[in-house]
Amino acid sequence: MKVTIVGCSGSYPGPDSPASCYLLEADGFRLLLDLGSGSLGALQRHIGLYDVDAICLSHLHADHCLDVCGYHVARTYGPSAPYPLVPVYAPADAPARLAAAYGMPEEPGLETAFEFVTLTPGSYEIGPFTLTAGLVNHPVEAYGFRVANGGRSMAYSGDTGESSELVKLAAGTDLLLCEASFVEGPDLPPGLHLTGRQAAEHAAKADVGRLVLTHLVPWNDQATVLEEASGGGYAGPVELARSGAVYDLT
Ligand SMILES: [Zn+2]
Ligand SMILES: [Zn+2]
Repeated sequence: MKVTIVGCSGSYPGPDSPASCYLLEADGFRLLLDLGSGSLGALQRHIGLYDVDAICLSHLHADHCLDVCGYHVARTYGPSAPYPLVPVYAPADAPARLAAAYGMPEEPGLETAFEFVTLTPGSYEIGPFTLTAGLVNHPVEAYGFRVANGGRSMAYSGDTGESSELVKLAAGTDLLLCEASFVEGPDLPPGLHLTGRQAAEHAAKADVGRLVLTHLVPWNDQATVLEEASGGGYAGPVELARSGAVYDLT
């Protein structure tokens, strides 16, 4: 599979990247993990606007899901509408929450463009991918994902504090996209986000092939985030996510 970082800015779009969105491609199938604020624009640098086959939303914070609203306009009213419904795997509240965000009554909500599938912990066959969703450690219902195809695999933390479930999801994967929203400091709130060091600790426990630090919050000094990851006991390659970066897992 090919993994493209569309958006990796944490909590809100930054000057160099939209909020969370990752494009996974295999056998001509295109799966998005998250479609956060601003990401629908940058996505079109990589694939056509109508080329998305499925979407998985890790959780319903705006920086992970809000561009589903704009995409609804494109698929409902675009020049060749109606377009096929795109399945959206998401927490159960997604249809109501996204309809409200759009300003649409719950019926028909956004279901002229999407077919919502309620995400619960477990495995899903999505096109050529096997996706496993596990609950991570965040103030709302939030999932981390493991995605496998053709003997290779990657994991994505979504938003999480320290999480043994994330270690399980990521175990033995070739690539871990792990959030590193915090820099070290006193009184960091638990159960919310990770530091670079904690991301590296998860990568070490899961014995992943490569660690990419993502969900990078623009107000942090990113060199510090990367430096702190060196204290997490992970011996493999570590780098900061960048919008447009591609990882070829074939
Ligand atoms: Zn977030
Ligand atoms: Zn969040």
